[in-house]
Amino acid sequence: MVLKLGKLGIGSVWDLLTHYPFRYLNYGLVTSIDKIQEGEVVTLQGEILEINNQYTRGGRQIQKLTLKDNSGELSIVWFNQPFLTRVLRKGSRVALSGKVKSYQGELTLVAPDYETLSKGEKAIHTGRLVPVYPETSGVSSKFLRKIITPLLLEVKEQIPEILPAKTLVDHQLINRKEALVKIHFPENKIASQKARYRLAFEEMLLLQTKIIRKRAKRKKEQNAFVWKIKDKELEKRVGEFIKKLPFALTSSQKKAIKEILNSLKGKSSANHLLCGDVGSGKTIVAAAVFWASLLNGHSVTYMAPTEILAFQHYETLKKLFTPFKIPVELLTGSKKIKKKGRVKIILGTHALLFQKELPDVGLVVVDEQHRFGVKQRKKLLGKNKKGFFAHRLTMTATPIPRTIALSLYGDLDISTLDKMPPGRKKVSTFVIPPKDQEKCHTWLKKEIKGKKIQAFVICPLVEASESLSSVKAVKGEFESLKKVFPKLKLELLHGRLKGKEKETILKKMQKRKIDILVSTPVVEVGLDLPNAAVMIIQSADRFGLAQLHQLRGRVGRGVKKSYCYLFAQDPSQKAIKRLKALTKYQQGLKLARLDLKWRGPGEMLGLKQHGLLKLKLANFTNLKLIKATYLEACKLATK
Ligand code: ADP
Ligand code: MG
Repeated sequence: MVLKLGKLGIGSVWDLLTHYPFRYLNYGLVTSIDKIQEGEVVTLQGEILEINNQYTRGGRQIQKLTLKDNSGELSIVWFNQPFLTRVLRKGSRVALSGKVKSYQGELTLVAPDYETLSKGEKAIHTGRLVPVYPETSGVSSKFLRKIITPLLLEVKEQIPEILPAKTLVDHQLINRKEALVKIHFPENKIASQKARYRLAFEEMLLLQTKIIRKRAKRKKEQNAFVWKIKDKELEKRVGEFIKKLPFALTSSQKKAIKEILNSLKGKSSANHLLCGDVGSGKTIVAAAVFWASLLNGHSVTYMAPTEILAFQHYETLKKLFTPFKIPVELLTGSKKIKKKGRVKIILGTHALLFQKELPDVGLVVVDEQHRFGVKQRKKLLGKNKKGFFAHRLTMTATPIPRTIALSLYGDLDISTLDKMPPGRKKVSTFVIPPKDQEKCHTWLKKEIKGKKIQAFVICPLVEASESLSSVKAVKGEFESLKKVFPKLKLELLHGRLKGKEKETILKKMQKRKIDILVSTPVVEVGLDLPNAAVMIIQSADRFGLAQLHQLRGRVGRGVKKSYCYLFAQDPSQKAIKRLKALTKYQQGLKLARLDLKWRGPGEMLGLKQHGLLKLKLANFTNLKLIKATYLEACKLATK
């Protein structure tokens, strides 16, 4: 039994008490035999006049019980449960709960739940709201009820309150002891909701408190290089940098730069998160912050999730910083960083993690952080050689509602780009049935010839990582598209190509020497190619909404009208509904909320290991609860 309970994650008394029911059977309507009505769920109590096994003509076994109460007698049946004649004895009192149905022309209970009633004991399986638990083979809800009931009675008085009295009052929470009893055995629905809310609140609050403590600890322990150039002067010089840009920054970009500089100028190492939808212009915000760090004499490392992206940023940053005589280095493969020399910008992928020693780096920037595992992120946090901790700036296009971001990354300061650069156009999006693919190809041919635009065709990863079979799939598509478009220039891109090959393809794409780039989703994050105006996604039903939105974000960055076509071979109704959402909505945040609803938080955020997702009760999608507990945790932390 211990092993079986272990399967449910139950290893202690406390685990058992917090093995919460996920629903209740409403057996609260206790009535008499003469009052039953078809369709009602009722509990009948009475004496067993008779019980026996009978065989039907088809060879099935049925169990027939005659129940007697003050109002009459009723014959009740079960099927194939011969042990019942041993459990339910003639002459004893029982309670039977279930739905009233018509059986062989008579109203009765068919295969009801049952419980023998003893004098002075309260029923636990009938005649009330009855908890239903997560079960495993050999551990039924009935069994769990049987062991949890006496346990609750025994330990109830020893369950301490752990929340301050004021918190209970402020948030109208019932006390802990009562909540724990009532979540298992509530007298009515409202009582169960109150119990659930109280315990969910506690669970979320503890998590939030932990995160806030962690943050306070970091602030205390991790010293950063203190910046020499102070507020006014720094603002002026960053302003000069911004003025040289080919466009004016949006108000939210300016605000984000200010906020980030604010958290970086302190004594302790900052940990800042910059959120912004695809194409909101995060790179330039980072560049302005780089400038501030460089001015203060500290190098910057910039870690991109893919080599392709590292190349792209390398080009962008070189253009931006060469006029200021700042060296920009791209680190690929096994190349080592030159230790000597002036302050600089060092770009790379996660290969940067394996550099033994980085020069005097004062700022580490991680782009599209959800691509990196939690462990990898931790590795980045190391001290540099003088015992100081670099500042960290993480950028993500994963559109997380701010409250969730605060709880997920409560140890981070957060800035959000909530405005798009001006002139962005809607990407017209369509779900294309297989029969119309040919039409779409004909259209594409014309579009490329007529408007000189470029297109992407994306094939999904077959497995989680870029496996050989997905490479094969994308190669197959590439070959067949070459036949469809014999006069156009097509190239193939996937994660298994060598760094140099990828770089060449990207350069060709930038120089418009490619008409159609057939690729795996390696282009999903960050690529910025203003002339690309058509995105075709094969087997679109295999992607999540957030990911599709990211892919779509590769087009619609320039002045040309852009389109996104979603192909799906044989999508389910559900999949079509999901894909249609993309035709309706352009904002990542809206789509992320739907993803959260339809696919769950682990899928959406790629954060399967995160503590928030292991909660027993508190619902991750309950923004109100997250917010309330976050504010409360902040309050408690300052006490
Ligand atoms: P993301 O937030 O997805 O990383 P990028 O930083 O790649 O977005 O920016 C997308 C494009 O928008 C780039 O070509 C960039 O030069 C351009 N851009 C950024 N900010 C502005 C702005 N304020 N006005 C006009 N274009 C901008
Ligand atoms: Mg980006």
